[in-house]
Amino acid sequence: MLESVIEFFKNLPPKNCVTCGEVIEEQHECYSNKCDSCNIV
Ligand SMILES: [Zn+2]
Repeated sequence: MLESVIEFFKNLPPKNCVTCGEVIEEQHECYSNKCDSCNIV
């Protein structure tokens, strides 16, 4: 089960920041659509 989940995320295309378009590295805040720079409010 866990391996299937990992494979699922591996196959996902890289996310891009909705603000600057920079590719977002996989991180704990995977629910965010913004990069670290744009995420700072
Ligand atoms: Zn950004």
